[in-house]
Amino acid sequence: MPGTLCITWTITSSASPMPILTCARCDTRRAFASSGRFRLNANGKRLDAWLIYRCTVCDQTWNRTIFERRARNTVDPALLDALQRNDPGFATKTALDVTGIKRWESGGDHIGLSVAKAVASTCKADVALLEITMRMPSPVPSIRCDKVLALGLGVSRSAVDKLARGGRLAFEPGATTALARPLRDGQRVWLTLDGLVNAALLLAAASGQSDIPVSAASAPLD
Ligand SMILES: [Zn+2]
Repeated sequence: MPGTLCITWTITSSASPMPILTCARCDTRRAFASSGRFRLNANGKRLDAWLIYRCTVCDQTWNRTIFERRARNTVDPALLDALQRNDPGFATKTALDVTGIKRWESGGDHIGLSVAKAVASTCKADVALLEITMRMPSPVPSIRCDKVLALGLGVSRSAVDKLARGGRLAFEPGATTALARPLRDGQRVWLTLDGLVNAALLLAAASGQSDIPVSAASAPLD
């Protein structure tokens, strides 16, 4: 009896977006990159915290506000600790968040993009349909759905496009143009494997494992 395999993809990026700002020293608009370091300033019982960015041309700094004039006793101790020791994970998470930033350019064309795969449901004997839930613990700016699908399925973007045109991809909630749209956290995609010549390869790539039986015969990618 053919079944549905539920898979979760967790998408992370180490390539932080670079805000486009007017650099006071260059006197023109420049891309600023996160230095990965925080600045914490105490003013009486009030604290200010910033993430420090640098102009990619002249090293002029720009302080991105994390919080300002916050009463010290209201700041989460874990957050304070992360700020004080320039926690790399928190610096990356902050730099990936483009909230409040009007213009930016991607920091390296998503070279740092990675997809961690976990099979969420018990494997059926024959998998006819894949249900992929996309998770992004930190925002990944302007990453297209088809790019992630290509990466996760181990195929080219044109192969993803071919699957979509063949009616094998479905998006929640019925968004036909979702391929070119920025991916959102929690987005679900269904891929119909039944009858595809490369079903076994797609299944193995999508699930991050290679030992799941599939009803269709396996064949090399076209
Ligand atoms: Zn500059």
